Amino acid sequence: YGDPSQKIDYVFKVVLIGDSAVGKSQILARFSRNEFSLDSKATIGVEFQTRTLVIEHKSVKAQIWDTAGQERYRAVTSAYYRGAVGAMLVYDITKRQTFDHIPRWLEELRGHADKNIVIILLGNKSDLENQREVTTEDAKEFAQKEGLFFLETSALEATNVETAFMTVLTEIFNIVN
Ligand code: GDP
Ligand code: MG
Repeated sequence: YGDPSQKIDYVFKVVLIGDSAVGKSQILARFSRNEFSLDSKATIGVEFQTRTLVIEHKSVKAQIWDTAGQERYRAVTSAYYRGAVGAMLVYDITKRQTFDHIPRWLEELRGHADKNIVIILLGNKSDLENQREVTTEDAKEFAQKEGLFFLETSALEATNVETAFMTVLTEIFNIVN
């Protein structure tokens, strides 16, 4: 997960947002440390994690910010969004309400962040297919309408987590190059 002595060509700040308990911290743990915990308290208090990766022969440091339990509507401060070039908007496919709140998060994001921010919608916990309350089609349609990338992920099974980050980071990379 990156040689610390290597020279960094880019630092991209990416923010994780979405309702509480959708899996934001575990998506980040999976991406930054290849870890997963069923105990969500394990990551509370962590502001951001970094991972350095290579995109088109350049080293890119991804600085991924996690809301440390500030998911109440409007509780996330503008400092959190400041300088962000990417955002991951996360809901839980087994909790309809977390998907229904996505337009609010999007509105908040668009109110605070740079207008060129790259956004991906993530339907997490895809391993819990038998408890699904949000269809892939509904989410895909919403993402298309709003111009967002979209993937279903499982932090538990590590499904699409790497792809989700690579999608956002590569798009940002292409915008700045
Ligand atoms: P956050 O509040 O959005 O940061 O959510 P957490 O990352 O703390 O996760 C909330 C709960 O959901 C924890 O018990 C996690 O172990 C669990 N969880 C997170 N991601 C997944 C997933 O992909 N699949 C399943 N089955 N559980 C998950
Ligand atoms: Mg969390």
